Amino acid sequence: MTPFLLVEMKVKIIYNFYMLNSQSKAYFKRAERLFVGGVNSPVRAFGAVGGTPVCMRKGKGAWLWDVDGNRYLDFVLSWGPLILGHARKEVVRAVKRAVTFGASFGACSELELELAELLVSAMPSLEKVRFVSSGTEAVMTAIRLARGFTGKDKIIKFIGCYHGHSDSLLIKAGSGAATMGIPDSAGVPKGLAQETLALPYNDFSAVRSAFQKYGDEIAAVLVEPLACNMGVVPPVPGYLEFLRRITRRYKAILIFDEVITGFRLSFGGAQEYYKIKPDLTCLGKIIGGGLPAGALGGSKKVMDVLAPLGPVYQAGTLSGNPAAMSAGVATLKILKKEQPYPILKERTEMLLERAQTSAKKWSLPLLTQQVESLFTFFFTSRPVHDYAGAKEADTARYARFFHSLLNKGIYFPPSQFEACNLSLAHSRAQLDFAAKSIEEVMVHG
Ligand SMILES: *Cc1c(COP(=O)(O)O)cnc(C)c1O
Repeated sequence: MTPFLLVEMKVKIIYNFYMLNSQSKAYFKRAERLFVGGVNSPVRAFGAVGGTPVCMRKGKGAWLWDVDGNRYLDFVLSWGPLILGHARKEVVRAVKRAVTFGASFGACSELELELAELLVSAMPSLEKVRFVSSGTEAVMTAIRLARGFTGKDKIIKFIGCYHGHSDSLLIKAGSGAATMGIPDSAGVPKGLAQETLALPYNDFSAVRSAFQKYGDEIAAVLVEPLACNMGVVPPVPGYLEFLRRITRRYKAILIFDEVITGFRLSFGGAQEYYKIKPDLTCLGKIIGGGLPAGALGGSKKVMDVLAPLGPVYQAGTLSGNPAAMSAGVATLKILKKEQPYPILKERTEMLLERAQTSAKKWSLPLLTQQVESLFTFFFTSRPVHDYAGAKEADTARYARFFHSLLNKGIYFPPSQFEACNLSLAHSRAQLDFAAKSIEEVMVHG
């Protein structure tokens, strides 16, 4: 063990002293026997920051409470869905009502129509939608549909963009523009990995050369229009327009993965925000209002290639589940009515400005990248445009920062390669508390 790690561990132990966490520790001991690594989704294991994960019991508004009774101001918000905060009363009421009538029918039902109409009204690129139960399923289906529609097999994705855990998308590239993909996970067949070209985000020439080389084999370009899964990394000016043009030229499908950005950047998502119309859109997170739901949508012409009208198969026992639809409908109705986006943006800016002031005071190299209510703290002095840049930031410092904040009752994502979220429930007073805590934490570097 390097001396550096030892010091870091000591710092952590001292911090952990402030907050009692015996119940969380006991929970995690039990969980480790039953769950792989103690968790049901890897990032929850605190692998990137060390320490024992906190076990949560209750959420209300912007607050979370753990099993020891500690309270946290939550900037994770279940990784994005809870734009209204935890347990918003209209959402709770809608779900209660829905399950009273039966949790699932496995047949057509009214609530799926209501949610679909909200989606179609928000995003003009959607004529038809298909509901699924997660973001992973939405993107997996979009890829299959793009392949079925174009009769081509290869897809382009970008390094550091996450699209769920289906086989074709767990791919990391080697160096060089159009290097054939190497699986990022064991268990992904090599043959399949070779159909995925993983290119650096925001790099025009990488995409151009990939199309020059494989133009007649590329079915789709899949992109997070605002990258959030390497930390928040905005598209450089002209990038999305360029992807739109080149996919048209080569008759490839442009897929926007708006699982995070949909109903988050604006009511019409990134496509409204950046004014680009994709061929297919993948949704998840916010549209389920905290319950499991995903969707894909696009023009009638492309969508009708799906079963039962077309030859591309896809199905789901719980697709369009009434409880999930009801939470989504309640959430989107509030967003549509209140249009809270300018307020969310302004509050986020206020928090980040104060964090920047504190960082300057203590001479810390803090880069905050923000778009609307999504943001990331990178400890670096250089702007981050892609995954390579994100990796250059000081992740050890982020880990210390995360634990210090946690011990002050602020819950940030347990990895720098994630977006922080603000909700409508975050009040000015709460953000003042967050800004003060951030300043205090920065004293320690
Ligand atoms: C979360 C996420 C997914 C996967 O959604 P799940 O519901 O976790 O399967 C896909 N794409 C993006 C951009 C995401 O952030």
